[in-house]
Amino acid sequence: MQIGPEHYAEQARIAAELAEVGFVLPGSLNPRRLTCTHAGCHCHDEPPQLHGPYWYWTRKVAAKTVSKMLSAEQAEEYQSFIANERRLRGLVRELEALGPSIIEADPRTPRRR
Ligand SMILES: [Zn+2]
Repeated sequence: MQIGPEHYAEQARIAAELAEVGFVLPGSLNPRRLTCTHAGCHCHDEPPQLHGPYWYWTRKVAAKTVSKMLSAEQAEEYQSFIANERRLRGLVRELEALGPSIIEADPRTPRRR
């Protein structure tokens, strides 16, 4: 293999950042404001005064969107897990790009003429 010191340094940097990621949650946290079924409730006024916000953690499970309601306190606390998941994905993409860049830098890789 033709792995240069810059490749080792990059791999070590990504590994160190991966070790710092912490807890992760896939998906997103979104507020929803809703109407209820009670006729005459202020949520049916014009303009409507909707209920909520209610916080939903939404993610894909086996290609289906799944939502779970959380308290406002939970939503605030778990927001950092969502951010950590995005950081994790970014680091994985960087790591996945490093392997190809090693092949690209390898002088043994046949070049088109
Ligand atoms: Zn209502």
